[in-house]
Amino acid sequence: MTLKKYFPIIISSPSGAGKSSVCDAVLRKCKDVEYSVSYTTRPIRGSEVDGVDYHFVSEDEFKNMIEQDEFLEWAEYLGYYYGTSRKTIQENLLKNKFVILDIETKGALKFMRNMPEALSIFLFPPSMKELERRLRSRKTDAHEVIETRLSNARHEIADSWHYDRFFINDDIEKVSDKIIEIIYKKSEGKDIYG
Ligand code: 5GP
Repeated sequence: MTLKKYFPIIISSPSGAGKSSVCDAVLRKCKDVEYSVSYTTRPIRGSEVDGVDYHFVSEDEFKNMIEQDEFLEWAEYLGYYYGTSRKTIQENLLKNKFVILDIETKGALKFMRNMPEALSIFLFPPSMKELERRLRSRKTDAHEVIETRLSNARHEIADSWHYDRFFINDDIEKVSDKIIEIIYKKSEGKDIYG
């Protein structure tokens, strides 16, 4: 197999629809893919590790990075800033790696404008009821945060038509296999809709 080109892969979905599990499965199965560690001003959560899950920075540091044009995209989500480092993306592509981004839709749309060669994938939850069940079972968020996530989910789903492909995330293994298949198809210049 000849890989002809490397590009970023954007994965978006409403929060709770399983995009981090799908990204983890793609990373586990495909050694040509690296993870884009985002910058965020939100506090560290649970077992997260600084520099692995996110680069946790202060609001001043984040705003300084915006001024220095260090982000390919950034967005505000539930009162915190999140951004994708230009350097992280460029370094991975230069190493001949695909780089996968787990980001929300507003930032994703900016990213698509800045890097139209990116492959963009939207993951739907099997149903809104199932999404609500998953969010409540996580037990990491307060009741109001869950309500906001559910309302954001409706807006994010409205942005889904901007993406190259979408999948219903009802089986992480199958969905991640499908994503890997289309990454290689695109890399080889083949039709990703077949
Ligand atoms: P969480 O706080 O639950 O880790 O993430 C909240 C949301 O921010 C998720 O939808 C996640 O995909 C998104 N997100 C994480 N990193 C970035 C980023 O660099 N840019 C943007 N636009 N969204 C991000």
